[in-house]
Amino acid sequence: MANETEFKAWLVTENDGQFSGEEVIRKVSDLPEDDVLIRVRYSSLNYKDALSASGNRGVTRNYPHTPGIDAFGDVIESADDRVKPGQHVIVTGYDLGMNTDGGFGEYIRVPAGWCVPMPDGWDGIKAMTYGTAGLTAGLCVSKILMAGAKPEQGKVAVTGATGAVGSVCVELLSGLGFDVVAVSGKADQASLLEELGAKEVVGRDALNPEKRPLLKPVFANGIDTVGGAPLAELLKQISPGGSVSCCGLVAGPQLETTVLPFILRGVNLLGVDSVEIPLEDKAAVWKMLAGEWACPVSEQHCRTIARRELPESLGAFLKGESVGKIVLDHS
Ligand code: NDP
Repeated sequence: MANETEFKAWLVTENDGQFSGEEVIRKVSDLPEDDVLIRVRYSSLNYKDALSASGNRGVTRNYPHTPGIDAFGDVIESADDRVKPGQHVIVTGYDLGMNTDGGFGEYIRVPAGWCVPMPDGWDGIKAMTYGTAGLTAGLCVSKILMAGAKPEQGKVAVTGATGAVGSVCVELLSGLGFDVVAVSGKADQASLLEELGAKEVVGRDALNPEKRPLLKPVFANGIDTVGGAPLAELLKQISPGGSVSCCGLVAGPQLETTVLPFILRGVNLLGVDSVEIPLEDKAAVWKMLAGEWACPVSEQHCRTIARRELPESLGAFLKGESVGKIVLDHS
């Protein structure tokens, strides 16, 4: 019966090497065979969705395709006892929205092992306010805390500070008592960054390439969401024993550094993956975000869009112009 159900989805197609998305009607039978059928209520926009929607084959091999690496919804059918019909679940990462039809459609079908039960007392729109970006921010913060980062050690830098991941990092760290230095290319968003809790806002030129392999230590710790040359420069400015979590590549995937920050200052570079980690690690961060790690300013500034607004919002990610979190509402 469910297989005959029709639903709306935003589908990206390729014509003569050009990729464009539009709303179409699909059937549940078009979705891949799997354990759990979910009626998606909300999704969330991420840089990776913008890559998928623009034809990046490193993210999505085959088109037509429905992106959306995040989804919150109600379980309609389940062939696995771990997930029950009627349950509210969050699905992020794994292959969702990459080569599996994603959250920009009103239905998805996924393995039971991808479904995190909704934390108590939370609602779907809040979960998607955080989405993969919030989860990644939580993981970045966890990593530096586990490596021993403490507020009294000094300033913590956050790069890509107005972005989806960076903005949550700023608020989360400031809520934990850290003096956050937001590194941002958007001077006009300084007041938002201060509202999120940044003690200082500096331009991207604070991390302009320098020839010297080490610079005067400015930051005790850092979270880098951009990669490339800014990460290499940040590592040169970290105090002895400090840690930097890194999760992104908007400034480039290459990291040209020397070993000096690591062997002369004992700096830790900590990689963060939010996609393929065990489900229980994701669930632990969701629980924190639904509780003591809640970020009310990010929640308040989150924008909600409809499917027809996807092209403009996804385009902003590719231009580095996106600010904060964006939720896709299917209602
Ligand atoms: P956004 O586009 O929302 O944020 C990125 C921010 O980086 C921009 O807002 C901008 O902030 C800054 N920026 C953009 N271009 C450049 C540039 N060329 N040089 C320096 N800074 C730049 O993306 P997200 O926050 O969603 O994602 C950030 C990164 O993290 C992406 O690479 C994404 O793929 C990655 N990611 C990785 C995950 C993982 O599991 N490892 C999960 C989620 C995301 P400002 O203007 O303030 O400087």
